[in-house]
Amino acid sequence: MIAYGDFHVHTPFCPHGSNDQWEHYILNAIKLGLSEISFTEHAPLPISFQDPVPNQDSAMAWSDLDMYLKKGEQLKLQYKEDIKINIGFEVDYIDGYQEEIQSFLDQYGKQIDDAILSVHMLKAPDNQYVCLDYSATEFANIIKQFQSIEAVYKHYYQTVLSSITVDLGQYKPQRIGHLTLIEKFALKYPSPFNDQTIIDEVLNKIKANHYSLDLNTAGLYKPDCLSVYPKLEVARKAKEIGIELIPGSDSHQSTTIGRGFEQIRELLKP
Ligand SMILES: [Zn+2]
Ligand SMILES: [Zn+2]
Repeated sequence: MIAYGDFHVHTPFCPHGSNDQWEHYILNAIKLGLSEISFTEHAPLPISFQDPVPNQDSAMAWSDLDMYLKKGEQLKLQYKEDIKINIGFEVDYIDGYQEEIQSFLDQYGKQIDDAILSVHMLKAPDNQYVCLDYSATEFANIIKQFQSIEAVYKHYYQTVLSSITVDLGQYKPQRIGHLTLIEKFALKYPSPFNDQTIIDEVLNKIKANHYSLDLNTAGLYKPDCLSVYPKLEVARKAKEIGIELIPGSDSHQSTTIGRGFEQIRELLKP
């Protein structure tokens, strides 16, 4: 077995994912021989935040939250002989919404087993928010708004740095999601920006805070990316300085559990 668990998996509660039954994700994980799986659904966005994507479907609905947690608990028990199931969230860090994010975590943090902190939303120069991984077309618009690819990348890593240093209370997620997600469309919009210095700063902050990294294979299957997140050289450096790498497929459908884990084999070796 390459990894003992898949620690970044979505569920039918994700409005932009598939309708695959939750049980099918679990059965596929068992079939693969995984001993653990973390369901990290997109936590509901702050109520005062306007989701910038056209269908406003970036995260689960507040009205589904109790059902998600309840059903999760049920499945944990139902499959406890076969697999350890963790129920949690992928929490968006959105610049300017720290208080609302913390109040969500204060309220729900003790009910969950696992969590990831991710940056998908950036505050653009006009003070509106944009979703950086929505589509290549939207990414082209974002570049226009920021006036250069370099400015987009810099702003992204600054936002990631804030996500690492910000105080979100005692239930702040301890794992940083898909660190180089900003490269999702990099084959179409290559960056001239040498990001090594800023990424080193990010890694050092992660290390200093004893956080871990989501080693996310989803990018391997994005046609304009074809790379894991964080990209290999960054993942290798993280490992070198002693940051724990936690494998996740970021599955939004049941058939992609553990996908690409054979390509991160060297990184998962102790
Ligand atoms: Zn998603
Ligand atoms: Zn994500």
